[in-house]
Amino acid sequence: MSAGLYFSHPACLEHDPRVLSPAHPDTPERLLAIERALAERWLPGWERRAAEAATEAELGLVHPAHHVRAIAELCAAGGGAIDADTFVGESSFRAATAAAGAACTMTRALLDGDAAVGFCAVRPSGHHAEPDRAMGFCLFNNVAIAAELAIRERGAERVFILDWDVHHGNGTAEAFRTRADVLFASIHQSPLYPGTGPLEDAGSGEGEGFTINLPVPPGSEEQLWLSLLERVVLPAAVAFGPDLVLVSAGFDAHVEDPLAGCRLRTGSFAELARRVRDMAAAAAIPVGVVLEGGYNHRVLAECVRCALAALGGEGEARPAAPESRLTPRAAAQVGRYWPL
Ligand SMILES: [Zn+2]
Repeated sequence: MSAGLYFSHPACLEHDPRVLSPAHPDTPERLLAIERALAERWLPGWERRAAEAATEAELGLVHPAHHVRAIAELCAAGGGAIDADTFVGESSFRAATAAAGAACTMTRALLDGDAAVGFCAVRPSGHHAEPDRAMGFCLFNNVAIAAELAIRERGAERVFILDWDVHHGNGTAEAFRTRADVLFASIHQSPLYPGTGPLEDAGSGEGEGFTINLPVPPGSEEQLWLSLLERVVLPAAVAFGPDLVLVSAGFDAHVEDPLAGCRLRTGSFAELARRVRDMAAAAAIPVGVVLEGGYNHRVLAECVRCALAALGGEGEARPAAPESRLTPRAAAQVGRYWPL
C-alpha cells in the first residue's frame, strides 16, 4: 500500500484568469511551484496517479445542468467574467472538469483501499462554488462533488469535510446546509471574503448541527487554529463517525500569503495535517485532501510538501495546543450539538 496517492492533471495548468484580469493571483505557476518542489524531493512512498476529467454525471452530483452548461458555453465562446474575481478562458472548462475529476478519481481509489491518504494538486479551486453559482475563483465544487460521489456511488453513510482554507468555504456549506450525512467544518478568517460563515450558522433543517463555522480574527496564529481543530472540530468529527474525511486544503492562512492576514507558518500545516491523519487513522478511514487557495508560490509549495509528508506518516503531532480565548465560545456553540 502506498503512503499516499498524488493526483494532478495537465489541463489544470490551462486555466489562466490573467488573460482577463492581469494581476489575478490564481495562476498556473501555483501548481508549477508545487510540482517543482516535489520534483526536487519526491514524497517517500507516495504514488503519482493520473486523474480523469469529471463527467457531466459527476458534475451533476452537485451542480444543476444549466449551471454546468452556462460555464461550458462561456468558455467555448472564448471566456469572460463571471464576477469581479472569477474569470474563465477557452480552456477553463477543461481545467475545472479535470480538477473535479481528480477529486472523484482520488475518492474512488481511497474507498477501494488503495491508500489511506490522497492529495489532488488541482485548480481552479472549488470551495466557493455553490451548486448554481461560480464565484471566488471557483467554478465547480471539487470537494462537494467528491463527497456526493462517496455517498451516492460508493455507499458511504457519512462524510466529514474539513475546510482549512483561510476563506470560508461557502459553496461547500451551501451544498450540504440541510444534510445530516455530511459534517462540514470550516476555520476561516473573519472579516474576509466571502463574508459568510458566522459561528452561529450551524446549518438548517435536518442539517442543523452538521455545519461548524469557526471564524477567527485577522492575525490569528497557529495556537488558535490548532486548538480549534483539536478541541472543537475533531471531537465532533469523531462523534459523527464518518466513513471518509475530505479536506479543502488552502494554504492562504500562512503569514506570507498576500490575500489574508492570519499568521500560520509552514510547519503549522503539518500540525493540522497530523491531527487529521491521527483522527482518521484511529477510525481506520481514509483522508482525501484537495488543494484550494495559497497564493505565495514558494510558501504554497513548501506548505504542500510539509502537509503531505505529515499526512503520509512523518512526525508526531505536538502535545495539545493551549486553550485559546475563542475556544470557549466556539466550544459552547458546537457543544450544543456534539459531545466535546
Ligand atoms: Zn482561500
